[in-house]
Amino acid sequence: MLSLHAVLPDVADSETRSLTSLKEYDGCPAGTYIFTEFYCEDLSCNCNRVMIKVYRTRPFDANDPGEEVATISYAMSDSKDSYWNTVAEDMENPFQDTFHKQASYADEVMYMWLAQCEADPDYHDRLSRHHKAFRRELKKNPHILNGIESMEKREAKAKRLPSVPKPFSRKEMKQRDRQRQKFVQLQRGSR
Ligand SMILES: [Zn+2]
Repeated sequence: MLSLHAVLPDVADSETRSLTSLKEYDGCPAGTYIFTEFYCEDLSCNCNRVMIKVYRTRPFDANDPGEEVATISYAMSDSKDSYWNTVAEDMENPFQDTFHKQASYADEVMYMWLAQCEADPDYHDRLSRHHKAFRRELKKNPHILNGIESMEKREAKAKRLPSVPKPFSRKEMKQRDRQRQKFVQLQRGSR
C-alpha cells in the first residue's frame, strides 16, 4: 500500500477528509481526525481496497504533528477477481488492522469513519475516484514507484517518517486466509 500523497500530492492535499470535534464524540476524544488514504500499488492486483490511516491532532493546533490512532482496511466494491471476493466474504468490512499502531479507542474511530461513509455517499465515491486516479497515474508513470520507494526507504532509515505500511500484499492476504481457515477448522473440530 502506498499513500495517495506519494502519487498524487495535490489531490491528497486538497481532498483528504478531516473532521474536528471540540468535545468527546462517541468515545473519540476531542481533536482533529485526518483520514489519510493508502491504495495498492500493484496494478495487476484487483483487491479494490483502501487503507485509511487515521491521525489525531489537538483541535486547531497546526504545530501538533499528531499521532496515529487507527488503521482501517476497507473493500470499496466487489472485485472482478474471485480470489478477493472469497477473502472478503470471510472478513468484516471494514476492519481494524491491528498490525499497525492504534489507540485504545481505535474501534470508535473506525465507527466514526464508517458513519461518515454512510452519511456522505460523495465521500465514498471520492475514495473510488482517488483509487482510479492513483492507478491511472502509476500506469502512466510507473517510474514514480521506484523514486517513491527509495525515498520512503531513505526517510524510514532517517526515522523522519513511519515506515511505509504494506499490510495487504497478496502473500500476506493468503497467509491470513490460511490462518483463518485453520481457525475455522479448529472451531469445527472443537464442536
Ligand atoms: Zn491489491
